[in-house]
Amino acid sequence: MSDLGLATSTVAPSFVITSERTGRVWELVIGLEVHCELATATKLFCACPNRFGDEPNTNVCPVCLGLPGSLPVLNERAVELAMRIGRALHCKVRPSVFARKNYFYPDMPKDYQISQYDQPTNVDGYLELPSGARVGIVRAHIEEDTGKNTHAGQGGRIHGADYSLVDYNRAGVPLVEIVSAPDLHSPDDAKAYVSELRAILVAIGASDAKMEEGSLRVDANVSVRPAGSDELGTRCEIKNLNSIRSLGRAIEYEARRQVEVIESGERVRQETRHWDEEAGRTRSGRSKEEAEDYRYFQEPDLVPLEPSAGWISAIDENLPLLPAERRARLAERAGVEPTHSSVAIAVERGLDALAIGAIDAGGDASRVLTHVEHNLAVGGAEDLDPALLAELVTMELEGKLTATQAKTVLAAMVDSGRHPAEIARERGFEAMDTGELEALVDEIIGANPTEWDDFVNGDEKRRGKLSGFFTGQIMKATKGKADGKAVNAILNKRRAQALGQ
Ligand code: ADP
Ligand code: MG
Ligand code: ZN
Repeated sequence: MSDLGLATSTVAPSFVITSERTGRVWELVIGLEVHCELATATKLFCACPNRFGDEPNTNVCPVCLGLPGSLPVLNERAVELAMRIGRALHCKVRPSVFARKNYFYPDMPKDYQISQYDQPTNVDGYLELPSGARVGIVRAHIEEDTGKNTHAGQGGRIHGADYSLVDYNRAGVPLVEIVSAPDLHSPDDAKAYVSELRAILVAIGASDAKMEEGSLRVDANVSVRPAGSDELGTRCEIKNLNSIRSLGRAIEYEARRQVEVIESGERVRQETRHWDEEAGRTRSGRSKEEAEDYRYFQEPDLVPLEPSAGWISAIDENLPLLPAERRARLAERAGVEPTHSSVAIAVERGLDALAIGAIDAGGDASRVLTHVEHNLAVGGAEDLDPALLAELVTMELEGKLTATQAKTVLAAMVDSGRHPAEIARERGFEAMDTGELEALVDEIIGANPTEWDDFVNGDEKRRGKLSGFFTGQIMKATKGKADGKAVNAILNKRRAQALGQ
């Protein structure tokens, strides 16, 4: 990308692109449209199974094939999950109306998609990033998924394809499209938004939210503007983003491209662009449809949807704690800021309940968080008994286990569910008491008088080398049982004594 002659910086307050050509500074504006497939047993308007990976065109019926005379029947569970998404994103749930979005493409056999248009179910919410920043949610509406086209031949695009295949198993699968406000200003924030949204969708059981299987699909709207401006520039919508990593790369590439276009005196054309992961660039797709191209009108075969106040409050009562609330809860118990990285990691790994349990059982909070962050990225860790984790960190704190030993013991605890003291004893990790260790250090000093003299009188560099030598000897003698920190402390104490300090 350096061929564009642009430099990037992430200095506060936000990610900016500085043009090497003109020195002008540009900022990014990003709004994301996320489609998620709902985890229902059946499709949105028929009883066909909603299942990924089945033999093509086996989960189909007259309704989802759009055959004449068939009528849609709304799936209550899909509405329930859509409302859960709305409430988890702090949206208002409103009476809504289904609409026909007309277009002609073989993936939609009816020639229209049933969606919601000017009266969506959920409006006006927000999502809180782990950094604490809030991103506005404009709407989260219900619609049906389309079938899946496969264009055989070069390029996988419809133009120039030898032939095309279509699988209608996905046609009519319930979707919720979540539209953010243009509140994001860096690739990293966009990535954090999608990660957080995915975590919320999974936590509330609304979707399995797998980008690799297409049950979570992200389109990124990107524009640039002179830093400090509050006008919106012309945007492009990037499709075909199959991972969070691609999302970040595509946004950065696209923003640099737009700066280059503007600085060379041209205008950004509003269009759909496709991300080419291999080439690391976006390519022009079709020019953007306007709403009138879709000739929206109210779906005559469905009545308006008016969830009762009772239904909405039942949904609120049944929402689990959301990731942001869980971060706040853990941070409070651990006495750290909710934006602390280990707090976010604990929640992401589903280990926050374990951490809180261990802290409540008397475990030192900072050591508990350290273990969760560095030593518990393993399956089965969530089943660990918090009281045993507390006991482990206490053994560590009392000097009965070194940090390295504690890590080993912890791994064995996850595997076996056994008691840390028992594992430590078995592995010969019994604490060396201080007296025993001091005696051993003195013995090693006595056996190496030249090195010791050098250690006492040498310069700092020499001393560093020799402290490594002595520690090595002691580790050898104790088969690694000694605590390196304690050894160092004794060496320094003896040196001070030798210097008569
Ligand atoms: P459309 O109806 O054409 O899809 P919307 O106004 O609903 O357009 O916006 C779609 C998405 O594009 C939203 O996520 C919104 O935040 C984002 N967006 C709108 N304008 C801009 C812009 N100038 N730059 C970046 N994103 C934008
Ligand atoms: Mg849109
Ligand atoms: Zn069907």
